[in-house]
Amino acid sequence: MFDTHIHAYQLPARHRMARECLVPAVNEDEWSDLVALHQHHVHFWVALGVHPQYADCWTPQHAMTLERQLRKPGVVAVGEIGLDKRLNIPMRVQEQVLRSQLRLAVDLGKPVILHDVHCIGRLLSILKEERVAAVGGVMHGFYGSVEMAQELVALNLGLGIGRLLLNAKSSRLPSVVKTVPAQSLVVETDAPWRVAVADWRRPLLDIITAVADCRSWSVLDAVRITRNNARRILRVNGEGSHE
Ligand SMILES: [Zn+2]
Repeated sequence: MFDTHIHAYQLPARHRMARECLVPAVNEDEWSDLVALHQHHVHFWVALGVHPQYADCWTPQHAMTLERQLRKPGVVAVGEIGLDKRLNIPMRVQEQVLRSQLRLAVDLGKPVILHDVHCIGRLLSILKEERVAAVGGVMHGFYGSVEMAQELVALNLGLGIGRLLLNAKSSRLPSVVKTVPAQSLVVETDAPWRVAVADWRRPLLDIITAVADCRSWSVLDAVRITRNNARRILRVNGEGSHE
């Protein structure tokens, strides 16, 4: 199983599983700790970036530090970055910080881990303008329509399917999972934010089982397909090394 979005650094050490995952940063304070985390757990791949929640802390110095940190072993992506309407940070600031990080990702050839809350139209235009299709990545916590999913897939982005799929009230997401190309599906827990139990394997397996049900796959096939997709998008192999 490959969890493409887990804030493992914020989990107690005993809950950090020895299984493949992508650990995104939310701000600069986490960058060097996440680089060190990969040294201890070689299957913990790392994304470094500044979450829109911290966009107002961004300075030109951040871009220089981030560029240097992105070259470290185990740092396979830029994230988590994006736009969030709920935040009290002007969209102008959020967009500028997002663009700076997208440019770094494209320059260094790294995929991106994207966060969006109610800004998808604007986000799509920026992704196109910054030519993000060249590096691809994952739309974390996808919750949109089939049409939106298709637009993201056309931009070379995978869809991070999370716990929303387990919510019986979410009627749109099962049809997205059913209809998008199989190679665009990856799974994520977003722990510890959305998981209230101590066994982190269980929620990921529940999500994978729900994906399998939507696609009429066996659970084993769903594990294999979503893991291979994550490895391909993030350009890592199963041996703990970066291609
Ligand atoms: Zn997150």
